[in-house]
Amino acid sequence: MYLIIFGAPGVGKGTQAKILSSKLGIPHISTGDILRAAVKAQTVLGMKAQKIMSRGELVSDEIMIGIIKDTLSDPKCSKGFLLDGFPRTLAQAAAIDELLKELNLMEKILVVSLKADEEELIVRLTNRRACSKCQEIFNYKDIKDKDVCPNCGAVDSFYHRSDDQEDVIRNRFKIFQSVTLPILEHYEKMGKVISVDGFQHVEKVTEDILHSLAKRSGKEITIST
Ligand SMILES: [Zn+2]
Repeated sequence: MYLIIFGAPGVGKGTQAKILSSKLGIPHISTGDILRAAVKAQTVLGMKAQKIMSRGELVSDEIMIGIIKDTLSDPKCSKGFLLDGFPRTLAQAAAIDELLKELNLMEKILVVSLKADEEELIVRLTNRRACSKCQEIFNYKDIKDKDVCPNCGAVDSFYHRSDDQEDVIRNRFKIFQSVTLPILEHYEKMGKVISVDGFQHVEKVTEDILHSLAKRSGKEITIST
């Protein structure tokens, strides 16, 4: 399976990416992680990226595509991958399409889109609380003893992250709509998008994705346990 994953903010994209990666036995290629790895490994592109970032500037699409190319060309990705966090613009989508053509993967690539309703998302995220001691995030309604962290046992450690405030969430959603939707449309025109309701139980979301992938690829999917 060769996949690109997109998800509305707060819809659990990271969680699904991890589950899919392990169930399908394909590496999870998060662009943040591979950028850090390239810097750490001091590859040619990694050193270039490091210089740019040390000046506080953004790594160009050209360098990012180069790092993604290095990663996807690695034998570890020969049987598939799950690309997460890229492309973020139509220009990046055009560049990644070129790369996929070069790697003979344009036919095989599928795009997983986790959808969310803005109002449901607001309710879910504004109800989140983080523990200041262990940094775990909980749904406040699910915490039985309102003062004790179920993870680390800290007392009175919950706080409302600034990321989870309503105006911040609405703004992230707006940015997501304006930035990501055109990219999804681009892939929809190519018939590559699988849309799944991201507001169900984690297991059900995974099940829906796997079901759609099997249907789309016309074959059974082997799941590693
Ligand atoms: Zn805690």
